[in-house]
Amino acid sequence: MNKTISLCDPIIGYEEKKALCEVIDSQWLTMGERVVAFEKTFAGLHHMADAVAVNSCTAGLHLALLGLGIGPGDEVLVPSLTFAATVNAVMYCGATPVFVDVESEDIPHISIADAEAGISSDTKAVMVMHYGGYLVDLRQWRDLADKHGLYLIEDAAHAPETGDVGRISDAAAFSFFTNKNMTTAEGGMVLATDSEVLQRIRGMRSHGMTTGTLDRHKGHAFSYDVTLLGYNYRMDELRAAMGLVQLPHLARWNGHRRQLSFRYRRVLRDRLPEVTIPFNETHETSAHIMPVLLPDGINRQKVMEGLRHTGIQSSIHYPPVHQFSYYRKRFPDISLPNTERFCARELTLPLHPGLSEGDVDRVIEALKQAL
Ligand SMILES: *Cc1c(COP(=O)(O)O)cnc(C)c1O
Repeated sequence: MNKTISLCDPIIGYEEKKALCEVIDSQWLTMGERVVAFEKTFAGLHHMADAVAVNSCTAGLHLALLGLGIGPGDEVLVPSLTFAATVNAVMYCGATPVFVDVESEDIPHISIADAEAGISSDTKAVMVMHYGGYLVDLRQWRDLADKHGLYLIEDAAHAPETGDVGRISDAAAFSFFTNKNMTTAEGGMVLATDSEVLQRIRGMRSHGMTTGTLDRHKGHAFSYDVTLLGYNYRMDELRAAMGLVQLPHLARWNGHRRQLSFRYRRVLRDRLPEVTIPFNETHETSAHIMPVLLPDGINRQKVMEGLRHTGIQSSIHYPPVHQFSYYRKRFPDISLPNTERFCARELTLPLHPGLSEGDVDRVIEALKQAL
């Protein structure tokens, strides 16, 4: 039996263990100097002055929306080809998500033309998602947002340290969940271009309190006020310590992922031309996942079983959000033909920096057999 090729593996080891032990030895477990250092380092890698660490990307998206003042009665344009969290965050605010189709099966990004057609007098923001790590055209989105007086928010869960991510939008949220390009087990980060917005987000991360635990511990403050409605979306020192170990490797890991994605493109073109790949080699990407499109009419379930039989994991990114029962009930009769067609054919193949080019070739041979 061949070794299992998993969809994605975190890269963690001795350095992370050591960093975690140091936190435990320090006896200071949450919202301390490591969280601040993690924020500063992450911000710096994105050419930004500061960032706010949170306990998930979902929390980050929620706070990004709230920090920009999105609330009941507001509409937010969203893709349906995304993880449910993107749309859930809009619901948390009491705002209304307006689902927008993707451009095409080749460019499965939220369509600018369809988004513009969906703008109403209640539209306050658009949320874009860098599917698979492939960046949406942020300049074009910025122009559209400015033309209509909308906020531009990035669900950047797939695309840390990639191109202009986080720099052109009003706010961006990142994920450090276990299967992302870097991990703190659970965790997230928010960037915002307006420092007042970022301050509001920082306040809402911890109950809207005016001083932090560390300030009070150090004797910088004796009491605090609660100035706005906040949450407990704090990141702890253990996660920040892991993040500080992971961050310096991120650019190299992204590069390794890209090289493997090029290998997939080359070998699939030669060996399995009926399987197509969205985007192209020149598209700026963190290569978060390896999405391919199976030929029309193929039984995807059978293909996935065939792959699993040879020890190869695969997945689907994503079942469209507008077709989940909760959203169907809330927003019936939505039809997004390009999204639905893409999602019906999409298959995600293994991609992570622990793979070799030989592993990629093995996945493609197994896919050929399964088809
Ligand atoms: C993983 C993911 C999220 C949620 O991230 P968490 O940190 O688990 O909350 C949001 N959006 C997208 C596109 C994701 O892939």
